[in-house]
Formats: sequence, C-alpha cells, structure tokens
Amino acid sequence: MLMGDSTKNMTNSEKLELARDALWPNYAPPADIVFVRGVGSELIAENGDAYLDFLSGIAVTSFGHAHPYLVKILQQQAQNLWHTSNLFRIPAAEVLAKRLVENCFADKVFFSNSGTEAVEAGIKAIRGYQNSCGNEDRYRIIGFGESFHGRTLAALAAAGNELHTKSFIPLDYGFDNVEWENIDALRAAVTANTAGIVLEPVQGEGGIRPITTEFLQAVRDLCDENDLLLMFDEVQCGLGRSGKLFAHQHLGVTPDIMALAKGLGSGFPVGACLTTEAVAQAMVVGAHGSTFGGNPLAMAVANGVMDLVLEPGLLDEVSRKSDIIKTGLINLIAEHSDKLESVHGLGLMLGLKCKVPSADLLAKLRERKILVGTAGNNMLRLLPPLNISDTDIDRAIKLIDDSLGEF
Ligand SMILES: *Cc1c(COP(=O)(O)O)cnc(C)c1O
Repeated sequence: MLMGDSTKNMTNSEKLELARDALWPNYAPPADIVFVRGVGSELIAENGDAYLDFLSGIAVTSFGHAHPYLVKILQQQAQNLWHTSNLFRIPAAEVLAKRLVENCFADKVFFSNSGTEAVEAGIKAIRGYQNSCGNEDRYRIIGFGESFHGRTLAALAAAGNELHTKSFIPLDYGFDNVEWENIDALRAAVTANTAGIVLEPVQGEGGIRPITTEFLQAVRDLCDENDLLLMFDEVQCGLGRSGKLFAHQHLGVTPDIMALAKGLGSGFPVGACLTTEAVAQAMVVGAHGSTFGGNPLAMAVANGVMDLVLEPGLLDEVSRKSDIIKTGLINLIAEHSDKLESVHGLGLMLGLKCKVPSADLLAKLRERKILVGTAGNNMLRLLPPLNISDTDIDRAIKLIDDSLGEF
C-alpha cells in the first residue's frame, strides 16, 4: 500500500518509522544508523558522521564504496542495457566466465544473483552429475558443523544448523552433517547413497576458521576413493579476500565445484557456481537456469571487479596488509590479554577471538565510528576492503585499542 492520507500530516522521520515496520523482522533490531553515502573505506551517516568500514557489508564491497572505476562501468552499462534474459547471448557473461575458469580448476560457470543460489546450483550439480553417471542412489550430501551456506532450503540443510533449519525442513532433506575436521566421523558418514561433500575452506559465520591442509587433502582423497564430488563454498573467502584469488589455492587441494558471490560484484548482487567440464555436462538444457543471473549490469560490474582483483600486485598487497593487521592485533592481545585471546583467518578475512563478549566490543567500536562484524566462537570479524590503506589500518588498530581500554 502506498502511504496515503493517513500519513499526510506526518514528518518525514515519522513516515520512515512507519515504513520500517513493513519489513520482515529477521534482522531486528538492525543498528539504528542510516547511511546515505559511501566513499572508499568510509560510510557517511545521515547526521554526517563518518564510519571506518571494516565490515564491507559482510565481505561484499571488496573495493570499498563508490570506487570511481566501478561507478563509471555501472553508469555506462546502465545507459546502454540492463537486462535481456539468458535467452540471448550475454558477451560480458561469457568473458567473465572465461576469466574465472582461466584462474582456477574449473571449466564452466553458472551465474546466479546470490551466494545461496550459487550453493544451490552446486548441490543440484552434485546430484545431477551422479544421476548422469547412472548412480541414481547417490543423492545424499555431507556438510559440516558450524558451517554456513546461505538461507535457501537446500543450503540450510547442507549447513545443518538446527537453529536455522528447525521450523523449515522436515526430515533430513538428503543431507548429513559431520563435525568440522573430524575425518573419522566423515568416513563413517559416507554410505552407498553419498553423492558429495560441501565445505567452506575458511569457515566464515562459524568463526573464521581456515581448514587445515591435512584435513582437506583427506577429504579430497575420500571423495576420489568413493566417486564423490567435492564442493567448496568460497562465497565469503573467495575472490581475493584470502590473499589468493581463491582461498583453496593456499591449500593445494581443488574441488569439482565452487560457489562464489559476496566480493564478486563489490556490492552489486551476483553469484557464480564454477564446475569442471564433467560436472557441467550433467547440467543439460532445462536442468537449471535463472532469469536474472548473469545479466548485463551484473556482468559489467563483476568484470570491473575482476580487472581490479587481477591487477598485478593486488593479491600480494592483501597479504601484506593482512600481516600488518595481524601484527597489530597480536600486540593488542599482549596488551589486553585479559580481554583478547587469539587472531585467526587468512588475508583480509580476520577473526579476533575475544574473552569479553565480542558483541560488546563491536558496540564500543561502533561508538568510536568503526564498523566490524562478529562470528561464531566469540570472534570479532574484520573484513576491510581489499584496497584498504595502511593509514586506515593504523586507525582501526588504534580504535580497537581505545575501545578495549573502556572495559
Ligand atoms: C554469505 C554466505 C552465503 C550466502 O550468501 P547470500 O548471498 O547471503 O545468499 C553462503 N555461503 C557462505 C560461506 C557465506 O558467507
């Protein structure tokens, strides 16, 4: 309903208060800050306050806000063509797919609009592949505890977090869930019905936990021995965030399928599911699709993001900055050993394990005008833009130091 006569005599902020009630309450209560503008690593609130952004919309705005190169690309594309559907060729999608596969294990790409859709496409591809091999009984997929794969039904079932699944998923939906990094439990969970395994090379929401090379290699071997497909969910840790283009490239183990999203559009919604040729062959005409996925606007921006990520030296810079932040945080731990425990993560996907409640530290940091996140396991989650400056890193460390002094 449009806001009609009943709101005629209201002020703008009264109308906004009413409109706020029209949203599902599932992020309630969101922080009571309205941002009106973003510039680089800063977000500007209605009242003019500038916040240092060490959250990046949860690992999304990988090159900060209003990056001039990306703004220009978006504006040019917006003037020419927004959408055609995949009933017609979209050259920018073909080019982006080619660039993605040239830089990893994959041969083929499906574009979606979000992370959970990319995961969902991968889950279908696992089952579709097994089916195409005549393994109709192989439909079950194993996920790991404390994982997060998104909010659609199959992605929820894959992560198996009861808090998320209990009102929505009857029975087991064809998924099994195993304790993180428990290879014996994983071996025991593989049956004649198992089709594949899905995991995050660096667990994000679950607590910024990079997987060990030994475990990942053991999972790969188990997949190879049992004809299972292995899917990596790099929705959060992929696209340069780890200091390599894809986080699994730190570990030397490759999957058959990989989901991407978050950083791929630096704020423009876009996701991708990458697969080997063999897996892609199962996704025949009619097997999958998307109306919006890979549309010209999204593809123009994502190609622009690829230009920036693949610029020589960018990934080395991510690693260098990661080291600076880690050193800064380790110094803070020494200084505040009663409040902080340890530093975790890869590249610019960092977790600071707290002894005080991480949500309290987040609140104090917000008062000092710096935005961060939290993650499972009492982690403060730091996700600055990949092009964050050394000066802003120093600022962030100082602000964390000051905030800890307040406890
Ligand atoms: C955020 C996230 C998703 C879900 O992405 P959406 O775009 O919110 O659907 C899936 N997997 C991982 C690892 C994520 O961090």
